[in-house]
Amino acid sequence: MEADLQSFVAFYLTGKKQPARLEDIGSLKLRPALFSGYRNLTHLRYDFPLVLIDEPVGDRFAEPLSGLVDTILGKVAQGADGDRIRKHVLRLEQEIRTLVASGAKGLFSGLWDKAAKVLVKQDKLITESLARARANLNVDGEVLDCSAELPTRLLGHAWGITQMRRAERFNEDINRLIVKLSDIIQADYINSDAGKSAQNLKHSFGAGALNSFDYDAMSSILKKVTARQTLPKKRRQRVLGLISTLQAQKFFPTTGKSGAGNTPYSFTFDTCSGALKAYRDRLPKAIELARAVAMAELEIKGEYSEARHEALFDSFGENGLDPEALALFPDYLVRLNATTLSGPEQSTLTEILSADLPFKILVQSDDILEKSLIENGHMAFTLRNKQLARMTMGLGVFVLQAPASNLIQMRQQVQQGLEYAGSAVFSIYSGDSPNTAGIPPYLVAAAARESRLFPAFTFDPSAGNNWAARFSIAENPQLENDWTLHDLVYQDEHCQTVREPVPYTLIDFVALDKRYGNHFAEVPKTAWSKDMTPVAEKIDKERRGQVESVPYLLMVDPASVLHRVLVDEKIVREARRCKTMWNSLQELGGIHNSHAENLVAREKSAWEESSRVIETASAAPTAAPTTTPAPAPAAVVAAPSEKEVEKSSDEAYIETPRCASCNECIQINDKMFVYDGNKQAFIADINAGTFAQLVEAAENCQVAIIHPGKPRNPNEPGLDDLIKRAEAFQ
Ligand code: SF4
Repeated sequence: MEADLQSFVAFYLTGKKQPARLEDIGSLKLRPALFSGYRNLTHLRYDFPLVLIDEPVGDRFAEPLSGLVDTILGKVAQGADGDRIRKHVLRLEQEIRTLVASGAKGLFSGLWDKAAKVLVKQDKLITESLARARANLNVDGEVLDCSAELPTRLLGHAWGITQMRRAERFNEDINRLIVKLSDIIQADYINSDAGKSAQNLKHSFGAGALNSFDYDAMSSILKKVTARQTLPKKRRQRVLGLISTLQAQKFFPTTGKSGAGNTPYSFTFDTCSGALKAYRDRLPKAIELARAVAMAELEIKGEYSEARHEALFDSFGENGLDPEALALFPDYLVRLNATTLSGPEQSTLTEILSADLPFKILVQSDDILEKSLIENGHMAFTLRNKQLARMTMGLGVFVLQAPASNLIQMRQQVQQGLEYAGSAVFSIYSGDSPNTAGIPPYLVAAAARESRLFPAFTFDPSAGNNWAARFSIAENPQLENDWTLHDLVYQDEHCQTVREPVPYTLIDFVALDKRYGNHFAEVPKTAWSKDMTPVAEKIDKERRGQVESVPYLLMVDPASVLHRVLVDEKIVREARRCKTMWNSLQELGGIHNSHAENLVAREKSAWEESSRVIETASAAPTAAPTTTPAPAPAAVVAAPSEKEVEKSSDEAYIETPRCASCNECIQINDKMFVYDGNKQAFIADINAGTFAQLVEAAENCQVAIIHPGKPRNPNEPGLDDLIKRAEAFQ
């Protein structure tokens, strides 16, 4: 037994297995025990596959297949046949789910018919049930499963609908302006000698009862009696110029009079650099069009004054377009994979976000368990996503982070991001990685959120002036907890059913990935002992001194037999880090906020003290009255005013009152960054580190409150790149 413990401890500390005692988990095909209920997803009714609705209402641009089937059932599964119809339609739903899981693609209606064909062969009554249900299928669209394809398709679909609605409004406006401007020209023509010619008058009245009318006589009378007020040449040219600009626009596909036949620009891109170049190339045309719209509005109201407006419109757009004018145009959609976000592409993204250009950027991650490039074996889980989220929030840009499994529940937030006036970033984890092959991407994506490694959140700068209004983590399960708890049901050695709540942690998630199999080791049942502790308990306690017990994770094999699997310390440390990050997000989201909790504790103790004093006073003999001074109000540490935190952008500083105590900066340099009495970081000694460390800390700070200022040492290597990176945090 002692020898077992020694080999277990050796594995825990070093990750090295003694082959005779510990087994590799890869060969056993183990999965975390909490996954045991999810072997075949096609038998479950859940949010996937989903249907991208062709003509949606509001933000319902996608619906779960099960939701659409429920709507149909609500209409047809009634009366005496209700149960039978329900059963048959649910069988059809399962058949569609199976078809899609095996790679079938197509419209909802097409897959319905395909699945029905399979089922009607099995049972005649099904034909009748499905025909009644089919008659109520009123929506259609492409059916998609949760896969690497999903984020691009879903966001592209939602973006397309937003732009189509914008195009409809735009076309309506442009057509109205063109018609009104044409009316000005037409009215001028009618008033001219040419307009009053006998031939034109005859043409205006057309053939009919007035065929014998003397148009020549009428023309000469009109020319004599009507004042000649034709348009001044300059105005006429201006109005014709406006019509031509409005008709020539290529920003939206056109209808009606607004220049049908122009090939419109494309607004979808695969790189930031391509999108930014297109934006810059088209900017002069966008300015010209925005100016034409503004001038046309004045012209048709008869309010255009050359003296007042000419100079103004000559300089229109010299400093680019303001958000109101930009809102006229389509947004640029850029769809990126996180692996391509480095070097120049990363700088271009920063440039786009810093300028808050109307770009909607999808950054898709298929792998969030990457190993760090810094050191062999070092882990950098979700590093790119964290950096992206910090940068975007620091720049005050809309950001939505979510696993693909959650996108359907976050439709409304996706829509808000797409309608946001400015840049919006959508950081989506697909769950589709070769390293978790064999497990449906939906499960992997959902597990990432469940394990707190990839929490869902939104940051919407337009929602208000404080974090409470702007930042939300409401789409995560069991918000108050460090880890999500799930019931694990199994049979013990006495064949008794046991149900116990088990936390789902980062370690369960990492155990799905075959690259990390060497951090786990299966323990034979004969060697199970009281020196083994459930891993979640170990995460909470940092090791101090000797190891007295080793952590284990419960896993199951394909026959659903439970196994205990040891976990090495590296992974346990990562789980601790993951928990700290989640705790910081909780604080930002208003849960377990340490400032609020400290304040409540101080107020509570002041209140208790004052009650105690009053009790003592009322118990004292009345013969000798004394005055009891009122207890001093609890000391409240006031947050520095905005003026106090406002510093010169040359000087490095931290917005200390907003520090979430996540430790990131302290880990980079604990001389330069130090906690104050409230455990909030400040720069204690600017000379204790490099500008590179300041920039790195700023990039790692979850709440983007470290401002690196300007470099103090002009000879520090790599300054050009560092200054560029620091710009996002000034
Ligand atoms: S200042 Fe430091 S400790 Fe505070 S939130 Fe930022 S990185 Fe974390």
